[in-house]
Amino acid sequence: MIADTLQIEVQQTTQSRLQEVDFNNLVFGRNISDHMFIAEYRDGQWQDARVVPYGDLSLSPVTAALHYGQAIFEGMKAYKNDEGEVLLFRPHDNWKRFNHSAQRMCMAEVPEELFMGGLTELLRLDAGWVPSQPGCSLYVRPYMFATDPYLGVRPSETYYFIIFTSPVGSYYSNPPKVKVETEYIRAAEGGVGAAKCAGNYAASLYPTKLAQQQGYDQLIWTDAKEHTFIEESGTMNVMFVIDGKLVTPAVSNTILDGITRKSIVEIARHWGMVVEERKVNITEVIDAIKEGRLEAAFGAGTAVVVSPFSVIGYQGEEYVLPQLEENSFVARVSRFLSDLRTGKEADTFGWTYKV
Ligand code: PMP
Repeated sequence: MIADTLQIEVQQTTQSRLQEVDFNNLVFGRNISDHMFIAEYRDGQWQDARVVPYGDLSLSPVTAALHYGQAIFEGMKAYKNDEGEVLLFRPHDNWKRFNHSAQRMCMAEVPEELFMGGLTELLRLDAGWVPSQPGCSLYVRPYMFATDPYLGVRPSETYYFIIFTSPVGSYYSNPPKVKVETEYIRAAEGGVGAAKCAGNYAASLYPTKLAQQQGYDQLIWTDAKEHTFIEESGTMNVMFVIDGKLVTPAVSNTILDGITRKSIVEIARHWGMVVEERKVNITEVIDAIKEGRLEAAFGAGTAVVVSPFSVIGYQGEEYVLPQLEENSFVARVSRFLSDLRTGKEADTFGWTYKV
């Protein structure tokens, strides 16, 4: 197994905080589990892989990531099945995407055995932190940042790769009102939109705040050139059911290759639905709403799995979307994905990974 060939030193905490957590009232990001995994890159190789009690880091004020932004992350969720085993959903895809982001940001890549080995070791030790309440999960955050204490602009020669986890509740929210953004952009051709780098999220905050001041919950980003093609929404990919077909913007170098999106595309095709991955013009969506041909518009991502929109705002007009039926595609795929992740549905796709 992975962890056998990789040396990971484990220092267990003597003061678990597990008893302090109210698992019936979990708030996103409030509780961090007992341990974290750390590996350090220097002299051209990864070393000092260890699981230690969760705690502060000591960093130089010159730390390169804080100045020039070489920082990337991933997000995934671990669930418990009825047997109490811990399951991850397609973690190798997170590993691949992590290295894709690393390449784009000119950072060291993380070998599969380090990513999967660190993840497995950490989750085995903190298995008690994986909630078993319906809809709850353990959010897993792998990330990497440049640690050179050097003020010049150049790729860092040293990095920290860290994983910590946080138990999270089920994500209840009213279906969001989204605004199609036609002034600010998230990504441009040739830029870093397909990388999960920290700066992409910082850049989205201000336009999102403006939309929230106008009564929206989230933005739909459009292309940088013409502001007519739909890209993504917040930290989700965007999908539509139009004329009974699943329509979604094709992934490109301006769109993050979402694992939830990819899974929904595969499930829909498996169910015999026509799927179109292509450019999606906002006017096509607005016309479909007006003509009653749009069944659903929704976001897809790890945090919420599937999030149907209630209203789309575009150029000052608000378009109200239809209510979803119990047996609609969106409701069915959302249940199916949740059941796969928690082991209730047989894993015919081979997507779950037992820790
Ligand atoms: N787009 C962006 C910008 C995101 O941050 C995320 C979350 N990782 C997604 C899409 C959805 O990806 P996934 O389904 O892999 O969580």
